[in-house]
Amino acid sequence: MSAGRQDQLESHRRISRLRIIDALREDGRMSRADVARLTGLSRPMVSNLVNELRSIGLLHEDAERVPTPGERGGRPPIFLRRDASAGAAVGIDFDHARVRVAVSDLALRIQGERTHELDPTREAGAGLDLAASMVEQALADAGVDRRRVVGAGMALPGPIQQPDGVVGPSSILPLWTGVAAAAEMRRRLDLPVVADNDANLGAVAEAAFGAARQAQDVLYVKLTSGIGAGVIVKGGLYRGTAGRAGELGHVRVRPDGPVCRCGRRGCLETVASTDALRRVLLSDRGRDLTVTAMIDAARAGDLECRRVIDDGGRALGSVVASVLNVLNPELVVIGGDLSPVGDILVDAVERSIACDALPESAANARVVPGVLGDRTQLFGALALVISEIDLPLAGRHSSAR
Ligand SMILES: [Zn+2]
Repeated sequence: MSAGRQDQLESHRRISRLRIIDALREDGRMSRADVARLTGLSRPMVSNLVNELRSIGLLHEDAERVPTPGERGGRPPIFLRRDASAGAAVGIDFDHARVRVAVSDLALRIQGERTHELDPTREAGAGLDLAASMVEQALADAGVDRRRVVGAGMALPGPIQQPDGVVGPSSILPLWTGVAAAAEMRRRLDLPVVADNDANLGAVAEAAFGAARQAQDVLYVKLTSGIGAGVIVKGGLYRGTAGRAGELGHVRVRPDGPVCRCGRRGCLETVASTDALRRVLLSDRGRDLTVTAMIDAARAGDLECRRVIDDGGRALGSVVASVLNVLNPELVVIGGDLSPVGDILVDAVERSIACDALPESAANARVVPGVLGDRTQLFGALALVISEIDLPLAGRHSSAR
């Protein structure tokens, strides 16, 4: 079996594990059969994963002790119980302008959170130092003993090479290229640290807890000052040969368009990213708006803001149409800074898809905004840790520093 296929099966297992944890969110009484029904996973898959989660101490199974009236004899029903207090996780999300840090329990309930501005022109070391100190503050805010932390997950805006989280070229943080970010953070925190591309983690978060919970084949688009995508095929993340799948922002849409940060010309990112939309408003109409102000104005009916968002959405939709023709996903989730604008963006994307995709591919794919908001990548980073715990939690605590 190829390494890529193995990687994707492994990702399917990890996303399914998160879907089970999510299904038990409402601490109701649920059996393995209930979980299979709710998640759409097969019974054998649920059994395997429940056994795995039991072995690390995140799930327990309790036989019902009180017999239901009129139901004597037979096997008592067995219900699953999630033990979210068995440990804690740390999530770190870097984007072009800020870093966010959160501490959660193992059910991803956030217990402490910090946000700080990030200077994208500074070297990686300064950003990593800042995030490490924010982790200590967030742990103190949450009152979480450091020895209970099972690990930290990190979302980074660029292609990421495993296992040390080396940041590839074309990152939106130029001075981070070549830095082994996960290894560097491991050294600073003295904790296990895993890192992945921000759009990949957005796709995992929306698939496990958000808009794509039931879907198996998903295109997640992160539309911010850059444009990236996470591709989920048969319930697992598809990374491609060198971990570079989903570089949607660098598909060329205008051969004679503006020069892109990747060194080529006319990439989607130069036309449809939030930076590109803001540039058009400034150059054409002399209006210097933040992304939030642009969204608010568009929602209030401002024609100029609606125009630039519609133009960007149509350019994005045309590229998404090609992806639909190639991959035939069932769901397209539009996340990132612009997603709060909702229908204005989704309608534009859908109109382009209707024009440019094969009718059958377009008919099978729904387009929806992401539902996890600006914490999407943070949830993805926390989910990465929780999906990757393989040692019994009790053992981890005693061996932690
Ligand atoms: Zn480019």
